[in-house]
Amino acid sequence: MGRPHAVQRRGGDARMTPEKWPGVELSAKEFYEKVTSVKFRPEAKFAWSAGEAMSRFLAELQDGRLIARTCRTCKRILFPPRMFCEECFRPTSEWVYVKDTGTIETYSISYLDLDARRIEEPIYVGVVSVDGASPKMGMMHYFGEVTPETIKIGLRVKAVWEPPEKRVGSVRDIRYWRPLREGER
Ligand SMILES: [Zn+2]
Repeated sequence: MGRPHAVQRRGGDARMTPEKWPGVELSAKEFYEKVTSVKFRPEAKFAWSAGEAMSRFLAELQDGRLIARTCRTCKRILFPPRMFCEECFRPTSEWVYVKDTGTIETYSISYLDLDARRIEEPIYVGVVSVDGASPKMGMMHYFGEVTPETIKIGLRVKAVWEPPEKRVGSVRDIRYWRPLREGER
């Protein structure tokens, strides 16, 4: 036979039938009726740390600033900031502010809202690479004051911030990124 003793005793594979198991089998319905259950809503209070780099990044957003980390070894400016360089495998070096202007790297025009309902006025989302950071360093965000005709890859944009009293330390402290206006740099 060559099987473990326990498998043979319990019936094993094809011979495994409910009759051979001890106890009484319950249907799903019986399970909910017969098995004791307790409903309990715990008053759980919790907090967690976003980590050193992300915590500082979020705090700076509340002040209307974008902050990055430099890596002395590969001479890159990492945005969003991180404490460890994924290219050099070493700790990053210094905090540095970057601009709230940038360039659209990629975008998507959505005619569905968050509940997948059809909408007239589309939502524009995509990745903006931020001025002052190394190339292709940026964040995913909303774009505004654009149309399906005017939005394009390479479009220069600027962050539209929530008013200071409404900022909470979230990426949504930026409402969206709009095209740079004439004379803006
Ligand atoms: Zn590096």
